[in-house]
Amino acid sequence: MNTKYIFITGGVASSLGKGIIASSLAKLLQARGLRVTIQKFDPYINIDPGTLNPYEHGECYVTEDGAETDLDLGHYERFLGVYTSKANNVTTGKIYHTVITKEREGAYLGKTVQIVPHITDEIKRRMLLLGATGDYDVILTEIGGTVGDMESQPFVEAVRQLQWELPEEDCMSVHLTLIPYLSAAKELKTKPTQHSVQMLQQSGVTPDVIVCRTEHPLTEELRRKIALFCNVKPGHVIQSIDAWSIYQVPLNMHEEHLDELAVRKLGIENFTQPELGRWKEFLSRLKHPSAEVNITLVGKYVELQDAYKSILEAFVHAGAANDCKVNVKTVQSENVNAANVAEMLAGADGILVAPGFGERGLEGKVCAVRYARENGIPFLGVCLGMQMCVVEFARNVLGWKDAASTEAVPQTTHPVICMMEDQKTLTLKGGTMRLGAYDCHLEEGSLACSLYGRTEISERHRHRYEFNSDYLEDFEKNGLKAVGRNPGTGLVEVVELPEHPFFIGVQFHPEYKSTPERPHPLFTGLVKAALTHRDYGPEKK
Ligand code: GLN
Repeated sequence: MNTKYIFITGGVASSLGKGIIASSLAKLLQARGLRVTIQKFDPYINIDPGTLNPYEHGECYVTEDGAETDLDLGHYERFLGVYTSKANNVTTGKIYHTVITKEREGAYLGKTVQIVPHITDEIKRRMLLLGATGDYDVILTEIGGTVGDMESQPFVEAVRQLQWELPEEDCMSVHLTLIPYLSAAKELKTKPTQHSVQMLQQSGVTPDVIVCRTEHPLTEELRRKIALFCNVKPGHVIQSIDAWSIYQVPLNMHEEHLDELAVRKLGIENFTQPELGRWKEFLSRLKHPSAEVNITLVGKYVELQDAYKSILEAFVHAGAANDCKVNVKTVQSENVNAANVAEMLAGADGILVAPGFGERGLEGKVCAVRYARENGIPFLGVCLGMQMCVVEFARNVLGWKDAASTEAVPQTTHPVICMMEDQKTLTLKGGTMRLGAYDCHLEEGSLACSLYGRTEISERHRHRYEFNSDYLEDFEKNGLKAVGRNPGTGLVEVVELPEHPFFIGVQFHPEYKSTPERPHPLFTGLVKAALTHRDYGPEKK
């Protein structure tokens, strides 16, 4: 069978959840036994979102091979349980960078370099790249942005050309739109969808299926109307109604026959019905938890939920694994200080101090760590959160009042967190952190080791600063243990307080690898400890 390509575009509005629809369809096809991956083409000019403020674009997701990518890749991995890579996220910036570099090398000598064919050729080359590996039966390609945006036009044009070049049965186009509900008129309106599909058709792409995001069910009549006006087959207009969980969407899409439409359009024979047993099991645990637990997330981008997407999802997975609902309360670290920390963190059965960059909110994070440490509250510090554990311990236990990360205080006399040696000579900002998967050896007998159930692990990273090993002995003598190290370099990856019921700081990002079907041990451990703390914690004794 040839590799099959499904292109997913969006219309009417952004934030309709194209990533979730793509992931859901991919999940269903995977559950039918097909080898599937998803890639995202983003129309912005940044080479990758690594240089974007999370307020702009939400979390920056990191792959095994160290690509800084769009957060939708996190959804792809969580739904499919399959790793993505550098090749799965392409931006306009990457496309132009390649074309302009080739131009300078003389690859187009004598030619005028143009959007069509040079830019569109490069887009097409990248769209087919994963297919050429032979590792996948179906490649879903999500086109970022909204049809009609000036910057997404070359991508839509590339889709048009591919549909023209490839055999008819190897391509499918899915268009996701919004059907707004006018409460005054008590009516669902189809006109924006008609216009959006018209715009797509003017670009030469005819959708095979229209997925309609809606808050209210679509009547048969409305579906027929959309089908007629948008020139798709009746039955090919399906609804995606607001779901109670994003993880329910694959089942909703299956009920709407989206996967069946796909296998039929793509001529995939001998397909079975999707096998979703484990997924459904997870959903039923998620839907009917028998307990509740409160986790406070202390971070500086808390106003935007998407900024901590993978962490929030990891708590959803860990909750289901513990048969409990995790209520995550977010606290702006900038607002936390020594005087109000008890009030700000009141009711927390567990605390997570989040990753981050720069100086803003650091002191609040240090206060939160201290509160968790002194009050025996289950605690997980992630990346910057781990670095703040080290700073807090240095200041309040070792008595080095000016201890700091050199990221915040370059001149400190106690640089307990300092820039990694190989970072010091770097001048470029994009893609130059310590990125992606690195091994870590966990000490036998440590809490981390017991949670993972093994000593050798690999986790993903995104940082420039590290634990300053010159101080290791001071820390260890006084109770903060480095229980996880990189086997090659000795870089401290995990710190723990063995005296504390659950206190772990990790230099890596465990959240990136948590999935519904494989919840992350550090998150399940934290939630479990939080449940215990809730029932038997100090104040209840
Ligand atoms: N700013 C810190 C560093 O660069 C932590 C990074 C992070 O939390 N991802 O090391």
